[in-house]
Amino acid sequence: MTARILVVDDVPANVKLLEARLVAEYFDVLTAGDGHAALATCEKTPVDLVLLDIMMPGMDGFEVCERLKANSRTAHIPVVMITALDQPSDRVRGLKAGADDFLTKPVNDLQLMSRVKSLVRLKNVSDELRLRAQTAQTIGLQELARVDRPDEPGSVLLVDGRASSQERLTRALKPIADVAVISEPQAALFEAAESSFDLIIVNANFDDYDPLRLCSQLRSLERTRFIPILLVTEQGNDERIVRALELGVTDYITRPVDPNELVARSLTQIRRKHCNDRLRASVQQTIELAVTDDLTGLHNRRYLENHLKLLIDRATTRGRPLSICITDIDRFKRVNDTYGHDAGDDVLREFANRVRATVRGADLACRFGGEEFVVVMPDTTPEMAAIVAERLRLAVESRGFDIPQAATVLNVTASLGIATLRPDGDTAEAMLKRADMALYQAKNGGRNRVVAAAA
Ligand code: GH3
Ligand code: MG
Ligand code: MG
Repeated sequence: MTARILVVDDVPANVKLLEARLVAEYFDVLTAGDGHAALATCEKTPVDLVLLDIMMPGMDGFEVCERLKANSRTAHIPVVMITALDQPSDRVRGLKAGADDFLTKPVNDLQLMSRVKSLVRLKNVSDELRLRAQTAQTIGLQELARVDRPDEPGSVLLVDGRASSQERLTRALKPIADVAVISEPQAALFEAAESSFDLIIVNANFDDYDPLRLCSQLRSLERTRFIPILLVTEQGNDERIVRALELGVTDYITRPVDPNELVARSLTQIRRKHCNDRLRASVQQTIELAVTDDLTGLHNRRYLENHLKLLIDRATTRGRPLSICITDIDRFKRVNDTYGHDAGDDVLREFANRVRATVRGADLACRFGGEEFVVVMPDTTPEMAAIVAERLRLAVESRGFDIPQAATVLNVTASLGIATLRPDGDTAEAMLKRADMALYQAKNGGRNRVVAAAA
């Protein structure tokens, strides 16, 4: 996981310490020594998370957080406040200021990493969905692109073996969620799969049941795998916690449970779940309505041209690679001429299926027109793109295409051209043009091959 993290603290030694630990985990770290510098950085650079000290001369952490959350350009950046252990009231103030989470000084490594990773992972998903919603807006589907709405109460499943803690946790969560309580872990699994919860809290206090078993089952069931899990566990049990996080537990909290901490962590998970659900629904509708190619079910050219621009912007600001591949079926006219237009349509559908099966989930596959298809590959170097294109070429060539209505199996090949984002001021049009010229060379070179445009 890579992400850009801004560390804000007026004491240089604290900054250095956090920076070193985050850099060791391959995070990209920016630093600021006061509130003004922090705000300026968030305004001009994409930041994925802010670690914010509270006590700073001039503007304190609460005010920095309030300002970040009040600015629509920075409101979506998660903020983790660093509070002193002997100042529990700071947590309440931090939450009021809009902080997403807090860490207590001295910052424990496991807590630092799990909090940071949990928030960054969630931000990545919602960034992706936000970007797609933005495309919906560009295309004119305002209603579908609406992302920000006030908080709705969450629905939480609390799995807890003891009546006393059930009561305490339910009371703490009452202001933000409807809580269903269940004592028996196996029954909880069924309950989770049947209903639609925004968060599952597993209190690891069963007499003779390993709570990680439940967590792992929740992660493997189709119906529950996207529901965040918050584990309540003993302090000082770091190995178990690491194991839980590896299993896909989203976050953890240690006993004795501070109600504010429970509310903060639960709210973060519920908010992101809601936001992602809405975005996913909007993306779904968007695609269905306006941007799908009827014949193949892939995205259409209109979607590609809009979304490619955004992907280029994002890759440029983040300094990440991006490649595209244009593919055109060889001698396709002959298929139509020999077997008829409907047989040609069958070939196009099957071709699209093979494209879909060959690319990653993060790639964007589109029917560009006629028998031309485009795949946009974020975070992909020219070398990787060449491998993917070759895999696609083989996926087409290696097996015949079944044409039931002509009672035949056809051999089909395709030519492919690839192009990669240039560092300075490249555009969607220019990239498509370079890929198209490479495709033209592939055709001229004898078809059924991959040609890469010069970088
Ligand atoms: P090349 O190897 O140079 O690409 O040859 P080609 O025959 O594939 O290229 P050309 O561009 O001359 O022909 C493309 C054909 O694709 C012509 C057109 O009738 C056909 N076509 C375009 N859209 C559709 C479609 O939706 N369905 C069917 N069945 N055919 C289509
Ligand atoms: Mg063709
Ligand atoms: Mg063509």
